Amino acid sequence: MNAEIIAVGSELLLGQIANTNAKFLSKELATIGVNVYFHTVVGDNRNRLKNAVEIAKKRSQFILFTGGLGPTKDDLTKETLAEIVQRDLVMDEESFQSIKAFFKKMNRTMTENNKKQAYVLAGSEVLPNDTGMAPGMVFTQDDITYMLLPGPPSELEPMFKKYGKRSLLKRLGKCETIESKVLRFFGIGESTLEKEIEDLIDRQSNPTIAPLASDGEVTLRLTVKHSDKRKRKELIDQLEGEILSRVGPYFYGYDETTIIDEMAKLLQVKSKRIAAAESLTGGLFQEELTSIPGASHWFQGGIVSYTNEVKIGFLGVQKETIDTFGAVSKQCAMEMAENVRKKMKAHIGISFTGVAGPSPLEGKNPGTVYIGISIDGKTPEAFEYHLFGNRQTIRRRAVKVGAWEVLK
Ligand code: ATP
Ligand code: MG
Repeated sequence: MNAEIIAVGSELLLGQIANTNAKFLSKELATIGVNVYFHTVVGDNRNRLKNAVEIAKKRSQFILFTGGLGPTKDDLTKETLAEIVQRDLVMDEESFQSIKAFFKKMNRTMTENNKKQAYVLAGSEVLPNDTGMAPGMVFTQDDITYMLLPGPPSELEPMFKKYGKRSLLKRLGKCETIESKVLRFFGIGESTLEKEIEDLIDRQSNPTIAPLASDGEVTLRLTVKHSDKRKRKELIDQLEGEILSRVGPYFYGYDETTIIDEMAKLLQVKSKRIAAAESLTGGLFQEELTSIPGASHWFQGGIVSYTNEVKIGFLGVQKETIDTFGAVSKQCAMEMAENVRKKMKAHIGISFTGVAGPSPLEGKNPGTVYIGISIDGKTPEAFEYHLFGNRQTIRRRAVKVGAWEVLK
């Protein structure tokens, strides 16, 4: 099954935005065994879009469009495709109602051209837009499946995940025999992990193993093909068991989860509350925690104790500790964690102190980070890390290693 993604939008050609929709869709399609062979980008121009579709029809059974479903004149994906496949544009009553409701909720008046967004290609399956207005649509004609998705990633991504994928699986039928599972690891480098499972990688056939490293993490995608569901599970479980028997201590979760999510789950399950004192991360850790719904069940609160004045004055770190060991030290991290836990009446206190860079601090190089952990009834501990990257990367990674220390 060869697929092609046609991203429509002059801003893509002008280099104003990156084609992240194609990246997202390609990744998603790979998980259901659809091979994406072409990414095409075309401007908001009827003739050139027509050309692109004619070419795609000759080489792809699956054509996905992103962008150009909006209400303005330059949004012409639907109209152009309607001409090519000779289908009318018809009003989809349900979409019209939800667009009306959207305007009402936003307290705005609906204009005539917004109505245009409720029109879909006749005979297509409508993909509801839960986060915006323009609905998506899918139809199959002459053995080619066409899917139209809105341009904004905040609309396209949930729409594809919730409705688009299911519709494709239904249309493809046989793709359902492909399944994959992603194993996520932290605290181990890609090459070390690969070395540990080298023989499994060498003799892989079904399931296949695809390693990928990004942002300090390593993932292994296991993909199995079999018509029998039970057999698919058995093959995956077997391989997963073998992998985890070797690198289990670095494993933290499956598929789309994150270390922060897993840490949150653990706190929730154990009914523990965490409080944070952050220096170099400036609140980034707490920002990540509070972006998870229901965080109030396990996140107590925290402080951004950036300067020594605040570390000492508000958090109660001993001046002597900072004078003797520096603010970027295990000792300071331990006191920060202990004090924030006590002050906030939490079960666990975590702290982040370190050098985000670009310049060294207290004679320590950028990337030097101490994570303090204080657990009620236990002696506080601190862990030293040497993280790699620019200022932002170091700060982001510090948040991850912090969550990892809680999770371990
Ligand atoms: P709207 O109703 O917002 O006009 P639309 O479906 O007409 O949506 P476009 O007008 O093509 O979509 O794009 C709207 C915005 O979506 C763009 O300004 C851009 O920010 C984003 N966008 C469009 N295409 C892509 C893409 N391929 N990758 C990432 N972002 C995109
Ligand atoms: Mg638009």
